[in-house]
Amino acid sequence: MDALATPSAHAGMVIIGAGHCGGRAALALRNLGWTGAITVIGDEPLAPYERPPLSKSVLSGETGMDAMQLAAVDAWHEAGVTLRLGCRVNAIDRAARSITLDDGGTIAYRSLLLATGGAARTLSIPGAQHPRVLSLRTHADALALRDHLRPGARVVLVGGGFIGLEVAASAREAGCDVELVEGAPRLLGRAVPESVASLVQALHQARGTRIRCGAQPVEIVQRDDGRLALLLADGSTLVADVIVAGIGMAPRLELARACGLDVEHGIVVDRHLQTSDAAIFAAGDVCQFPSSLSGLAMRQETWHNAETQACVAAANMLGAASAYGESPWFWSDQYDHTLQVSGEPALAASCVSRVPGEGALLLFFLGRDGVLVGASGFGPASVVTRDLKIMRKLVEGRVRLDPAVLADAAQPLKKLLSMMKEAA
Ligand SMILES: Cc1cc2nc3c(=O)[nH]c(=O)nc-3n(C[C@H](O)[C@H](O)[C@H](O)COP(=O)(O)OP(=O)(O)OC[C@H]3O[C@@H](n4cnc5c(N)ncnc54)[C@H](O)[C@@H]3O)c2cc1C
Repeated sequence: MDALATPSAHAGMVIIGAGHCGGRAALALRNLGWTGAITVIGDEPLAPYERPPLSKSVLSGETGMDAMQLAAVDAWHEAGVTLRLGCRVNAIDRAARSITLDDGGTIAYRSLLLATGGAARTLSIPGAQHPRVLSLRTHADALALRDHLRPGARVVLVGGGFIGLEVAASAREAGCDVELVEGAPRLLGRAVPESVASLVQALHQARGTRIRCGAQPVEIVQRDDGRLALLLADGSTLVADVIVAGIGMAPRLELARACGLDVEHGIVVDRHLQTSDAAIFAAGDVCQFPSSLSGLAMRQETWHNAETQACVAAANMLGAASAYGESPWFWSDQYDHTLQVSGEPALAASCVSRVPGEGALLLFFLGRDGVLVGASGFGPASVVTRDLKIMRKLVEGRVRLDPAVLADAAQPLKKLLSMMKEAA
């Protein structure tokens, strides 16, 4: 081994990105018995926190920072985790096994985890730099947006994905006038089938949001009365006090790319979450990993992925050879409704619908061999939450199920779960 590549006896575990995944990995390293130094560097000024409330209860003011933090401030200290916050990593020197911070300091690492997540995509049309054209990724973004969500305020959302729809619901609940434009012919793109997307659209329209699909924003201008005008390609104009772009995120790949790691749609890792450099791991939103079901490369932007990959990456940084085998899972809460997707619906050869009533819809996705590869559902949380939980377990069990039973809402899903457990 090259002398420079030999880790210093004193080098510790270093994590770039103090988000959900980075923070969870640091705590896991300690829980797994690592007694050396753990340093987490994050360019946000806050200790690691979970982002899902940002588009929901933070906007309504129900959730404060305390409830979002992965651990209380004292707990990081007690765990002996050094948080370097408000601090950016500028470079990784793989030969020296060290990283360089924006203040010029360097930190040597024994193993390095890249948990750099992503940044919100911004609109690239004239006028998009206006201070009342916002996006939502961080706690600071959520507080800035919350200030605008007053009764009667006109909010225009660009993007009919999960974040746009969650913000639309929060803004309507705050009494705002809400209009949403989506460039594609329907909401939620490939995330859910059309049958689910149309129920979601109907819910939002029933609660007062005006929705235009197939609409292309071309320019934003400030009018004489101070309001913003969003001009669309069809010549129409939407008037807004604030415009929010919910058009997805771009994984932060710059450090990995600059130091020569394999990078495609994310930082490429194997099933151990190890990059093309054996001393460097990547996890969370930023990493592209092989699906445990199909082997196909995938990148997930979900709470569950950040949470579970953090623990596997931490174990492997300590020398375990754990394969990441979790089945994907995602939820989105909008009004009193919930939407969930589990497994990999994209692998399905057929889909079975179940209609439990009260406007809810549950979908089961079956592979060519009849095995359940994915499930999704949408409806009032009080109606679907229990079934969605069971569906997730059935997907994880990779069971072969009778489509007729799946379609029959009179047959309790709980029974299928018991049968699966008995057969195991
Ligand atoms: C508004 C919102 C709502 C969401 N709602 C849901 C939901 O309902 N359900 C669900 O399943 N998922 C949801 N998610 C997704 C989930 O929150 C993410 O998948 C999760 O936060 C990913 O965690 P991460 O640690 O990989 O990345 P991040 O949370 O993005 O953390 C990465 C951190 O690294 C920092 N960083 C990057 N580069 C550097 C550098 N060079 N130096 C220092 N620091 C750096 C970033 O600033 C950031 O703080 C939501 C996300 C958002 C934004």
